[in-house]
Amino acid sequence: MRLLVVDHPLVAHKLTVLRDATTPSVTFRLLTDELVTLLAYEATRDVRVEECTITTPVAPARGVRLARPRPLVVPVLRAGLGMLDGMTRLLPSAEVGFLGMVRDETTLQAATYATRLPDDLSGRQCYLLDPMLATGGTLAAAVRFLTDRGADDIAAVCLLAAPEGLARLEAETADIDAPLTVVVAAVDERLNELGYIVPGLGDAGDRLYGTVD
Ligand code: URA
Repeated sequence: MRLLVVDHPLVAHKLTVLRDATTPSVTFRLLTDELVTLLAYEATRDVRVEECTITTPVAPARGVRLARPRPLVVPVLRAGLGMLDGMTRLLPSAEVGFLGMVRDETTLQAATYATRLPDDLSGRQCYLLDPMLATGGTLAAAVRFLTDRGADDIAAVCLLAAPEGLARLEAETADIDAPLTVVVAAVDERLNELGYIVPGLGDAGDRLYGTVD
C-alpha cells in the first residue's frame, strides 16, 4: 500500500477551516469539494492514458487521452457523496458507481447495505471516495469488494486518516495483488474510544448533511 499525504498550503488551509467546529455545513460542503479537487489532482497522477494523434489548426500533433475502460469513481455512501463533484470535476468522463457501507457504532464493523456497480471491473482503475479513514474497516471492505469484481488498480481519496486505520487497511489488503494508493490531506494523531479521528473534524456525514435521526 502506498500512502500519499498531499503537502500543499492550500490543502492545509482548507483542511483547517473544515476542522473548525464553527464552520457551517454550507461552507463545509464547499470546502470539501475544493479540497477533493486538489487531492484528485495527485490521486490521478497515474491515471492510464493512451497515445493518440490529433490535428491542431496548424499541424498534426501527438498527444494522449484517457484509456479505455474508463476509470470508475466510487463514493462510499453517505459521506463519500460529498466528495463526488470535486472528483468528477477532474475526471468528467469517468463512470460513477455507488457503494453503501455503514459502520456499526458498537462493533465498529462495516456492513454493505447498497451497491450500484458493474459486475465486471476487470482492467478498471477505481477511485474510492471516503472522507474519514478511521478504523480502516469500511475502506478495507470496499477495496475487497472492488478487487473481488476484478478491479486492478485502486486509489482511495480521503480527507483525513488515523494511523490505526492505515495499519489495519494495509494488513487487511496485504493479500490483494492490485496496487492500492491512499491519498489524504493529513494523517492525524489517533482514534478515540468512539472510533473518531483525533483531532479530526467530527462526523463528516453530519457536518456535510446535518444530523439525521
Ligand atoms: N467517521 C467520521 O465521520 N469521523 C471520524 O472521526 C471517524 C469516522
